[in-house]
Amino acid sequence: TPALDVSSADTGVKVIVRVRPMNKKEETEEAEQVVHMMSSTCVALADQQFTYDAVAGENSSQEAVFHMVGLPMVENCLAGFNSSIFAYGQTGSGKTHTMWGVMSDSDDFPSDDRGLTPRVLESLFARIQEEEMINADKQLLYQCRCSFLEIYNEQITDLLEPSQRNLLIREDTKTGVYVDSLSEEFVSSVHDVTRILAKGLANRRVGATTMNSESSRSHSVFTCVIESRSKSEGEGISSVRSSRLNLVDLAGSERQKQTGSAGERLKEAGNINKSLSQLGNVINILAEVAQSGKHRHIPYRDSRLTFLLQESLGGNAKLAMICAVSPASSCRSETLSTLRFAQRAK
Ligand code: ADP
Ligand code: MG
Repeated sequence: TPALDVSSADTGVKVIVRVRPMNKKEETEEAEQVVHMMSSTCVALADQQFTYDAVAGENSSQEAVFHMVGLPMVENCLAGFNSSIFAYGQTGSGKTHTMWGVMSDSDDFPSDDRGLTPRVLESLFARIQEEEMINADKQLLYQCRCSFLEIYNEQITDLLEPSQRNLLIREDTKTGVYVDSLSEEFVSSVHDVTRILAKGLANRRVGATTMNSESSRSHSVFTCVIESRSKSEGEGISSVRSSRLNLVDLAGSERQKQTGSAGERLKEAGNINKSLSQLGNVINILAEVAQSGKHRHIPYRDSRLTFLLQESLGGNAKLAMICAVSPASSCRSETLSTLRFAQRAK
């Protein structure tokens, strides 16, 4: 699979559609397949065709998706760009599988089905070691720290310290946008990261609804801040560079009306849609600005998610949106809406 050219100067969002295989239930029901991969960049829903930067078909491996989307982001981060990967799609379409995948209990035998997040961090640490070696004369040293949070009902919870709820986003002229009292852990190995991921994932909230008992109504944001220091040539002054890598598993994009939501749940649904739809809005406006070159106000502050990620969405930031879809006819209308969302993000 060719790597996406996410390192070039264009600021557009890279959009990848991933089609998951039929699941057991769909197979036993002999569900009709309505999504077909036409080429490495084109996918068809019935007789409608859609073109993206890349399409990962139902046989695409986790490794192939990593090479397509993850690897270029590692290089972007090392080059100093804030970089983000989002997984978008209806519940059950493969977002969590793509972002986290199957974790193994043993560091020595990582699962082939591990997803983007562990792979991106493995590769990041390997590249850091390489860079430090090559640049030993400049005393180049990296330091990474991770945080893991959940946005649920427009409230931020620290997944590494779940007693910390309702955290506030603050802005400081020196440090930029940050989440007040969010815990951060220093990491220097895959092992450190696996431990953090496991802890955070165990704390993720899952809401039960009448439509899907595993419906995930929260957004989870894993962030790694990568800081490097080196001595500037001759002067012995140390320079610091910092970039952020965000790996985001979004809440299910399905419309909420069939789920029998009432009261608290309804408010929840509205709030989830707020962060999701605002992300869509911001990305659309950014795409427009990139195309026209005209200045426009970007409403980052209208949702927690976009406010939090403000510095990783605009400017020189690199974005990849993986839109996950099911191939089955029973998901047709949600798949169509995901494919349209994906097209608008371009
Ligand atoms: P979501 O997070 O979008 O709700 P999941 O990632 O949990 O969806 O996927 C739903 C189910 O389908 C899970 O059991 C997952 O293991 C499986 N699945 C999703 N994508 C794939 C894939 N590409 N290959 C194999 N199984 C997949
Ligand atoms: Mg999920």
